[in-house]
Amino acid sequence: FLKLTSIQKSFGPVQVVHNFDMGIDKGEFVSFLGPSGCGKTTILRMIAGFETPSGGSIIIDGKDQGRLKPNQRNIGMVFQAYALFPNMNVHDNVAFGLKVAGNSKTEIDKRVKQMLGLIKLAHLADRFPYQLSGGQQQRVALARALAVKPQVLLLDEPLSALDAKIRVSLREEIRQIQQQLGITTVFVTHDQEEALSISDRIVVMNAGRADQIGTPFEIYNTPANRFVASFVGTLN
Ligand code: ATP
Repeated sequence: FLKLTSIQKSFGPVQVVHNFDMGIDKGEFVSFLGPSGCGKTTILRMIAGFETPSGGSIIIDGKDQGRLKPNQRNIGMVFQAYALFPNMNVHDNVAFGLKVAGNSKTEIDKRVKQMLGLIKLAHLADRFPYQLSGGQQQRVALARALAVKPQVLLLDEPLSALDAKIRVSLREEIRQIQQQLGITTVFVTHDQEEALSISDRIVVMNAGRADQIGTPFEIYNTPANRFVASFVGTLN
């Protein structure tokens, strides 16, 4: 459904992503896991269209994304933090993409209600971002991303600014919503426990290359090399 073929990216002379290949199924939840600087965010940004690959192709549902600008791609994205519009209340934040797409007020209100129900924040529709906890803000960001019914959901360390307890409950909520909607999801994290607990498959990245692609069970039980073993914490 989402096909990445020989994706490469260089910034000047420095190649940060080397020939990455992967096919992601419809409805699959795939995590890119690796240390800071390994290139995982760069891959996500290429899927979103914020970075142009130096080589290779990105195809979503048979459609080459190469010439499409970010706003022409059918993608929803949630960032690490602080990405809500501060001057809009929760309702208007979630409504934003629907307005841009030219939906009627009735359609927008119906969809926003549906989305706020999904993230269980219907009672906070009139609040502004500064009146919400970090976890609530990220749930609104998720609702905003999903409101326009994207083909692919991209999550760029959406939990890393939250404290430990909220992180665990929110990742379970994200997974549940993802499965309920059956939306193809790419998640970037440096937290191995997070990746192991939430994913259908994990890509372990090391210096711009995928060292291993596998299910959490495979990654944990049969790490491909010492790097993977030490990163997922199975090497003593
Ligand atoms: P982090 O979790 O720290 O964001 P990451 O694995 O997501 O790490 P990337 O953000 O993809 O890593 O960055 C990979 C490499 O590319 C890093 O060495 C980074 O410094 C470099 N890089 C990223 N964006 C640019 C840019 N616009 N110009 C030059 N170098 C860049």
